[in-house]
Amino acid sequence: MPLLPGAATLGVLGGGQLGRMFVHAAQALGYRCVVLDPDAASPAGAVAQDHLKADYLDAAALEELARRCDAITTEFENVPARALEQLARSRVVAPGASAVAICQDRAREKAHFDASGVACAPYAVLRSSADLAAVPDALLPGILKTARLGYDGKGQRRVADRAQLAAAFDELGRVDCVLEQMLPLALELSVLVVRGAGGEVVTYPVQQNLHRDGILAVTEVPAPDVDAALQAQARRSAAAIATGMGYVGVLCVEFFVLKDGRLVVNEMAPRPHNSGHYTMNACDLSQFEMQVRAMAGLPLREPRLHSPVVMLNLLGDLWFDGAGRERAPDWAGVLALPGAELHLYGKAQARAGRKMGHLNVIGATAEEARQQARRACAILG
Ligand code: ADP
Ligand code: MG
Repeated sequence: MPLLPGAATLGVLGGGQLGRMFVHAAQALGYRCVVLDPDAASPAGAVAQDHLKADYLDAAALEELARRCDAITTEFENVPARALEQLARSRVVAPGASAVAICQDRAREKAHFDASGVACAPYAVLRSSADLAAVPDALLPGILKTARLGYDGKGQRRVADRAQLAAAFDELGRVDCVLEQMLPLALELSVLVVRGAGGEVVTYPVQQNLHRDGILAVTEVPAPDVDAALQAQARRSAAAIATGMGYVGVLCVEFFVLKDGRLVVNEMAPRPHNSGHYTMNACDLSQFEMQVRAMAGLPLREPRLHSPVVMLNLLGDLWFDGAGRERAPDWAGVLALPGAELHLYGKAQARAGRKMGHLNVIGATAEEARQQARRACAILG
């Protein structure tokens, strides 16, 4: 039995911008929303009908969330699996604790890619000095990544040789790590896959992503430099990865395309994703509405891209001029551009590198979207 719009209440663990956009989509359909987040200034808490200000492991707050909601989701992958398990005893929880636990740990994530038959970078799991000594030469030069809690390039060290590897392992606190061979990347892609509780799967068109300083900067769809066969392979692989862990909800799978043209899976996020924000204006169904549909047991339609699009991430840096003085970006100028749609997350304080919003620029053609996106960049400086 689906949880119907206009009657049910949906809960979110986490109150950042992803939670906020989820709440907007759920409310547009007529659901009530409750956010659990300890931060009184939470972007999602500010728009939900209710905001429980408590820690994610506060048993009483979790009980209250379960009491008020019919189904619960999460907007960040580091939500404690225990919290999801407690909620799942009485309520629909999507994605489930076991899938989130896989995504939280790069070692388990890589093992799942192997089990799904999807190629990832050659790697070794490092938990001890013995593991360090046993690293095969073929993995160097490589990238050492903490198994847990890394994001936006944090918790990673590029290492050229064994001495640098040992130093980096120390520097990262000798926590569990994964060492990956450094691969020759041609470009980076991601794919949103959505799986319903009944096992039905839909995928979105492939996104081509450009990162700056480890943070997503630009997403373009359709992916301009990826042929149809590789796009189909990426979508099939993402579907296999979601199905193989009994996933329910929106999952974002990141891939590399190597210089020799091979497709390699990188990592995944058990939630809507920054690179999927383009769906809000370029598709008939946004990734946030899909998350609502999946958790509520509503039908999942194959999403349709109706316009080529360029998504620009708006980082806090735009709020400062060259001399470091705070300024207001020229939103009126940007909004005068054909096809430009602004999404700001309601964060009071801008900081360098902080995700403040994004701009979707759609066009009748990819070239038109690109041209208007270039104009937007020029206006924003
Ligand atoms: P994060 O959780 O910070 O997004 P990623 O594993 O996606 O971590 O790594 C961040 C970026 O580092 C990637 O987007 C890619 O540009 C680069 N990178 C990561 N792993 C490799 C690799 N094995 N070879 C080459 N580049 C890599
Ligand atoms: Mg990444």
